[in-house]
This record gives sequence, C-alpha cells and structure tokens, in this order.
Amino acid sequence: MALTREAMIERMLGADKTANGQFIVGVRTTKIYCLPSCRPPRKPKPENVTFYETIDEARAAGLRACKLCKPDNYYASIGQGGEEMQQERLAYMDTIMETPGPLAFAVNADGALLWLKFLDGEYTRSLEEELAHEGYTLAHDPERTAQAREELAAYCAGTRQTFDLPLVFSGSPWQKLIWQALIQIPFGETRTYGQIAASLDQPGAARAVGRANATNRLPLVVPCHRVVGTNGSLTGFGGGMHLKVRLLDHEARVRGITLPLEIAAK
Ligand SMILES: [Zn+2]
Repeated sequence: MALTREAMIERMLGADKTANGQFIVGVRTTKIYCLPSCRPPRKPKPENVTFYETIDEARAAGLRACKLCKPDNYYASIGQGGEEMQQERLAYMDTIMETPGPLAFAVNADGALLWLKFLDGEYTRSLEEELAHEGYTLAHDPERTAQAREELAAYCAGTRQTFDLPLVFSGSPWQKLIWQALIQIPFGETRTYGQIAASLDQPGAARAVGRANATNRLPLVVPCHRVVGTNGSLTGFGGGMHLKVRLLDHEARVRGITLPLEIAAK
C-alpha cells in the first residue's frame, strides 16, 4: 500500500495535510526532515528529497527535525514517537465487568481509545504491561474514560451497535485502512478475509487482512471478531477463540438471530 515516489512528491508539493503520518520528507540540502504538510518559504527540489517511513529512519540518516512543522510533536501526538523523545504520555485505564466482557481499556488524554483487552483473555502481556512497554504512564480519571465506558457498557447491554468514541489507530496506513474497513461490517454480521480484501480493491491480500486483524488493539470496537474464514470457520482471535464466540453469540442474541452451527458448537 506504500505510495509511489511520484505520489509522495505530489503530496509534498501540495502540502497535503492528509499525508501526514504516511511518510517523512527528508531534505538532503538542508539536512532536515519534515511532515508532508510543511510549508517552508521555498519547497525543496524533488531531486534533493528522500522519503522515510519513520522519523527514526530520518534521524538515522543524519537529519534533524524541522522547526517549522515539528514532525516529532506530530508523531508524539499520534502515539508513534521515536525512542529518543520521552514526553510523558498518559493512558487512562478503566474496566467494564458486564458480559460479553469483562474488559480492561485505556484512553488517551482526549478520551480516544488506545487499547482494549478482555480481562479473561489469554495474552502474553496484560494491558498495563503493553502500555508501560510503549512508554505510557498509567493513570485513572473517570471523566476521561466516561465516553468509552458508557459506549462499551451500552454495547454489552445490547443497546448500542456502533461506536462514536474517537479511536487511536496505531499502525501502518495499510493496517489503518483494514481497521476502517472492519468498522463497516454491520453488528451481528460476518465477512471473510477475502471479502474485506476485495472491498479494498486488493483481492489478493486476504492474508495481509488476516495479519492486520491479528494486530488490532481495539477488538470489539474494531470488530475483527466479525471476520471469519472462507468456509465459515472461526480462525484466530487475540486472547482466545472463546472471546470471539462470545462476541458473535452476543450480537446474534441481540439481533434475535441464530448463530451458524459451526460457530455455536465451539
Ligand atoms: Zn518542515
């Protein structure tokens, strides 16, 4: 899904804000790196520009952050900071005890959902460990977690089928595209990996969809549980298959439909 060099040049020359986060512009002549949206007094000549995927790569190439567009601040704000900058990032944690939970989740200072795990899931790391590993300082503030808590509780109660709360998608542009596509699968329905890939005009990418699915930090809200194998088989689910069955069972119940036998039998 990487953009071509021509496409990146076009976005850089157009100072395209929507391209921020997709690539970094490195300028050989001035030895700085910029966001695509940067508007310096004089745009660099394309022949002097090298594109990087991350700010760490741009730094490794000996470039400094641009003082105008402050790319480091931007990447810190979207939760993909390089190793060298340690601004304090807070993750506000909370729990939901209702079925199909129990859930533990964390939001950022703006109340956007960062991560969600099932309290009875089988994970190699707990939510606390994941957040600490990413450099978050753990915090509690019921006001910041209120929207996520209310929406998740309503989902559990069967009174909410889609989510309005802001989400933090931490991943590559391709992963983000897939997660966005998953959100389009209606409550209580399922799609195959191949169908998701085809809906993105990438019919050969079913496996890549599977991989993006497996790295979803926002299960339930980004409904990777609604993706199944071609033959209706359940395939995998982070934290254990029992959680996927529980979510599908919950949604079928709310909609008053019967789960396909091969799923219900699990
Ligand atoms: Zn700049």
